[in-house]
Amino acid sequence: MTVAESPIRTITNGTGSPYNLIDPARPVYSDAELAEISAELEKVSATKVIRWAVENFSPHLAMTASMTDAVLIDLAIKVDPAIEVVFIDTGYHFPETLETVEEVRRHYGLNLRMMTVARQAEELWEADPENCCSAVKVGQLDRALAGKAAWMSGLRRAEAESRAGAPIVSRDLRGLVKVSPIATWTDEDVAAYIRDNDVIVNPLTLRGYPSIGCEPCTSPVADGEDPRAGRWRGKDKSECGLHLA
Ligand code: SF4
Repeated sequence: MTVAESPIRTITNGTGSPYNLIDPARPVYSDAELAEISAELEKVSATKVIRWAVENFSPHLAMTASMTDAVLIDLAIKVDPAIEVVFIDTGYHFPETLETVEEVRRHYGLNLRMMTVARQAEELWEADPENCCSAVKVGQLDRALAGKAAWMSGLRRAEAESRAGAPIVSRDLRGLVKVSPIATWTDEDVAAYIRDNDVIVNPLTLRGYPSIGCEPCTSPVADGEDPRAGRWRGKDKSECGLHLA
């Protein structure tokens, strides 16, 4: 049996460990255990990582979707068709992104949870993008994750320098377990998966937007430019905060 085929070891709650208050039947992992599990999951496929997350945390598990493409959704649905998918409708998305949300929802029959943001009194993104992301995106994610034990995202190390050290499994600032099943995937891995599995992509990805956020804060990138160069272009900001919290 190769390393990749070996079963994933689940570290269970030892005697003296605190019980999971959300679901006492579920194990609680210490930070050291999560680091050990993360190192182990480096060696297995994204599908096995997702299976580990589902087996350990479902139904107290959600996944976020940016709708740049449906790669993680496609992978996750094959493990758990009922998995909760969270999309944060900031009110500032491109029409193409909202159309992609609807297309993906219908295609997979998604258990989709739209977090809708109330209209802001002023264009906060213009005056103070840091607070805009914090109030609009991070605040809605906090709401979406209330009562959850773990969440998954499509975060990848190759996306940005700030993400280069992202573990497969870690604990976020909320105390929840954060799982990044495709953290090790390169851009080529993503492109190959999309091609081989006929995965839905946001049409903007074919028009110079390799990384898609809110419309006022996303511009197309030129050939050879950093894929995230179009995010908050000209501003001293490169992350919305979803992966910092
Ligand atoms: S990406 Fe721009 S519009 Fe969207 S939440 Fe952040 S600052 Fe606001």
